[in-house]
Amino acid sequence: MSLADMRRPIESGCPDGMQYMHPVMIKNFGQWKYHEHPRPGVLVHYAESGDAIWTVRAGTQRILDVYTLRKLCDIGDQYADGHVRFTIRSNIEYMVAEEAKVEPLIEALEKEGFVVGGTKNSVAFIAHTQGWLHCDIPGTDASGVVKAMMDELIDEFRNCRMPNRVHITTSCCQINCGGQGDIAINVQHTKPPRINHDLVANVCERPSVVARCPVAAIRPAMVNGKPSLEVDEKKCICCGACYPPCPPMQINDPEHSKLAIWVGGNHSNARSKPSFQKLVAGGVPNNPPRWPEATAIVKKILKAYKEDARDWERINDWIDRVGWPRFFELTGLPFTKYHIDNWRGSRKSLNSSAYIRL
Ligand code: SF4
Ligand code: SF4
Repeated sequence: MSLADMRRPIESGCPDGMQYMHPVMIKNFGQWKYHEHPRPGVLVHYAESGDAIWTVRAGTQRILDVYTLRKLCDIGDQYADGHVRFTIRSNIEYMVAEEAKVEPLIEALEKEGFVVGGTKNSVAFIAHTQGWLHCDIPGTDASGVVKAMMDELIDEFRNCRMPNRVHITTSCCQINCGGQGDIAINVQHTKPPRINHDLVANVCERPSVVARCPVAAIRPAMVNGKPSLEVDEKKCICCGACYPPCPPMQINDPEHSKLAIWVGGNHSNARSKPSFQKLVAGGVPNNPPRWPEATAIVKKILKAYKEDARDWERINDWIDRVGWPRFFELTGLPFTKYHIDNWRGSRKSLNSSAYIRL
């Protein structure tokens, strides 16, 4: 078959976003002059041409059923100009080219129970991974944590009362996607994996499981006459990295898989370099359906930040200024030996900077 006869590859990546954009945005692409923030949840962008476009942002639950999606789209057709987009924090944004459409659009959204907000110095919608629904290794239902927390933080979403924006994240396992932010609520395993030796030989590719362990705690072993694996529990840091390639090494546990709360993770911005988040509360009960212990800690951190930080300081900037001892004093969180990183291996194996090195 000649090259000309061959089928062209079908690209399956992101579709071209331009085809879905509001016409005013296409017309003024790359020609924006400045923007304003007339009220929480609304932004207006002015173009060099004199055009303006209003964006109205509402929170959604991210895992959307088709009826809710239809409802959101109907609102877009009836009250906006028929163009929407979803942000990475599960907000829906409607674009309108006339200011007169903004208030009726907000009213329609609120009438259906959606909350408008999440812009500027508010608590933005909590980003979460969604492993409970589709992944093979989750230790908690991150979307449930988000629902329980946002129910209590919703006034901080619909108002702009924080020193700067606050990005909160959750993740449903300890090692993979998710869990980086001003405040991160992450799974924390506290016991080594339990091995089902009857299944290892049939299910796991043992050399790759051995290679997965960051502290070389896994060895091949014969157990009951079958090839299996064993874990040196003194070395194991309970990271859970062996569980995805080898499900018989079960690490999730209703009692011993906890939540940990980390603060101060941030990309670089105009004021500061990128910063790693740091553990501030460990061993927090993973307690569905409302996760009251984790929510109480997040509220304590937000309260101290709101009262003590200067305007436009992000959480990491605030802690850099006041220092960690003062952070623990202001939040009332106990400082324990678990907050001190005394793992000797980290000197060689962990980056000490958040910059990506090539
Ligand atoms: S955080 Fe972990 S469990 Fe959750 S979706 Fe990502 S990889 Fe899966
Ligand atoms: S949990 Fe982590 S440290 Fe422990 S054996 Fe598995 S990969 Fe190694």
